[in-house]
Amino acid sequence: MATTTACEAQINAPENSMHLKKVLSTASPLTLRIVAECPVTKARACELILPHSPVSTPVFMPVGTQGTMKGITVDQLDALGCQICLGNTYHLGMRPGPELIEKANGLHGFMNWKRNLLTDSGGFQMVSLVELSEVTEQGVKFKSPYDGKEILLTPEKSISIQNSLGSDIMMQLDDVVSSTVTGPRVEEAMHRSVRWLDRCIAANKKPHKQNLFAIIQGGLNAQLRKTCLDEMTKRDVPGFAIGGLSGGEEKDDFWRMVTLSTDHLPREKPRYLMGVGYAVDLVVCVALGCDMFDCVFPTRTARFGSALVPWGSLQVKSKQYAKDFNPIDPDCECPTCKRHSRAYLHALFKNDTAAMHHITVHNICYQLTLMRSVRQSIVDGCFPDFIRTFMKRMFSSPDQYPSWAVDALASVNITLH
Ligand SMILES: [Zn+2]
Repeated sequence: MATTTACEAQINAPENSMHLKKVLSTASPLTLRIVAECPVTKARACELILPHSPVSTPVFMPVGTQGTMKGITVDQLDALGCQICLGNTYHLGMRPGPELIEKANGLHGFMNWKRNLLTDSGGFQMVSLVELSEVTEQGVKFKSPYDGKEILLTPEKSISIQNSLGSDIMMQLDDVVSSTVTGPRVEEAMHRSVRWLDRCIAANKKPHKQNLFAIIQGGLNAQLRKTCLDEMTKRDVPGFAIGGLSGGEEKDDFWRMVTLSTDHLPREKPRYLMGVGYAVDLVVCVALGCDMFDCVFPTRTARFGSALVPWGSLQVKSKQYAKDFNPIDPDCECPTCKRHSRAYLHALFKNDTAAMHHITVHNICYQLTLMRSVRQSIVDGCFPDFIRTFMKRMFSSPDQYPSWAVDALASVNITLH
């Protein structure tokens, strides 16, 4: 496989703007340009051309709820170089409601966010937040946690809300089953997700402006996953997500389902692995061929005072940092590390929510920087070495390496020991 060097990638860059114009006039407003492929693993570095700006992949997409990132502003997100973030359809569809957001020129206008947005279908939020939900062929029925009213979210309704929000990437409504569930329910949900994909495709009123992604289901059953992959890849959708994982299943099952999926997904379309955000998982799943990731973990853990660092995490609340004048990570370029010490953040955390905000900025910077380094190593043709160095730094000794990660990497020709 040919590998593009950093230098060649730069020479090719002016193509992007020309390419963008060409792409915007065609049916699907998305193009994936493969910049480099790792000659050892399944990793690839791409330019994903979306309506609001190009996105360099592999990419981590921070999650915003109700149009704002918890603990970080849109300007800060922009300054950190974030090219795409997530908006939650469930929350936005309930409050302030799609009509109001449409009036504000969609979610971009409402948030004043100039880059790309991905919205979820609302289905997953419902299953995870609302206990009393019922799935029928028509859609998902649930009681609004705001006013107790019964609501039916159909594939058509989900797409209609996402059309109002105006996101660059919309997700299909799928029948979500917990990854620890087994038996006939998993098969039913997989087939229903295929039928709902067709209803979502038919319901999309802005296919020239908004990309609809399919979500591969099938639980932890390889045969069901394969059937779902066969069916969904017959549809001409701009991209594919790998769903139904990262829900408490064994990591051995997790990576095997990921690699089975990337083996059968088309090379020329983006692959989005949903709900994955731990550093080790990100690096391993890039090696398995995934391009896009999202997770609430980096922002959620920040609110508990946990800062992500190349050697794991640093608990700001811990007494040992009370008199430590080093930044969280001396090598980090984020505004928090440039300005504040561990001792200051430790003191601040006791009585001011600003500490959570500073750690959130750092954690998002950590995720984005990690993915940029991963990408650069793929472009430079040294991704396997990058992984070995990354693992050495993350774990105190090789016997601490998680066995699933060792096995997953071995499956793509990287030996760690
Ligand atoms: Zn930092």
